[in-house]
Amino acid sequence: MKITFLGTGTSQGIPVIACDCEVCLSKNEKDKRLRVSILIETKNNTLVIDSGPDFRTQMLREDVQDIDGILYTHEHKDHVAGLDDVRPFCFKHNKEIEIYAHQRVLKALKGEFHYIFDDRFNYPGIPRIHANEITNTAFQINGDEVTPIEGLHYKLPVFGYRIKDFTYITDMNYISEKELEKVKGTKVLVINALQKTEHISHFTLAQALEIVEKIKPEKAYFTHMSHTLGLHDEVSQELPKNVFLAYDGLEIEI
Ligand SMILES: [Zn+2]
Ligand SMILES: [Zn+2]
Ligand SMILES: [Zn+2]
Repeated sequence: MKITFLGTGTSQGIPVIACDCEVCLSKNEKDKRLRVSILIETKNNTLVIDSGPDFRTQMLREDVQDIDGILYTHEHKDHVAGLDDVRPFCFKHNKEIEIYAHQRVLKALKGEFHYIFDDRFNYPGIPRIHANEITNTAFQINGDEVTPIEGLHYKLPVFGYRIKDFTYITDMNYISEKELEKVKGTKVLVINALQKTEHISHFTLAQALEIVEKIKPEKAYFTHMSHTLGLHDEVSQELPKNVFLAYDGLEIEI
């Protein structure tokens, strides 16, 4: 299975508009972060987790020719805003795009992108979307088992996902021990680490390290980072040997 980090930044991306901090002004490509998303390529599927506002840029950058589906973590704009840009895949392959999300997230998408889901108009240029409602139980996509991991993003329930030996968690600041059990044994864990200082809805660097310590994956990668976390190269040096800050375009094989 191949993983490509499409974006590793928090909701504003890095650089942040009009910010002159050292991270936003950094010349290092690893300090430039699009909104968070990941591409998962297995033998059976090409899947994306979330379609944020940078979805189009990310698909072009990675030269993605087709996707089998989008798994949604939650309905915040930095995770859903790019849904309309699946249209080229619909046109090129004359197909519907499968999306997988909790009922609450689907409801939000249907509100936000009402023209896509409103059968009254059937406007020919819209994306063709097939919505799959999922619950907190494992499900199959073309033979790949996908296990949701539920956690909290302040009060909002969010899904992370495990596929085989890979687990992707973002926008959480709490995961119960019961849900963490599902993550155990994963070889590669991706988890959100926003910044060093306490935040109401995201794990801090130290909290993300605590989860890594509990799960003990072979390797862990942090994502959904803020410019307030610090420079990529400096923060990277503070991490244990098997823990890394992800960066846009990073590819890993599992
Ligand atoms: Zn987010
Ligand atoms: Zn900044
Ligand atoms: Zn969020």
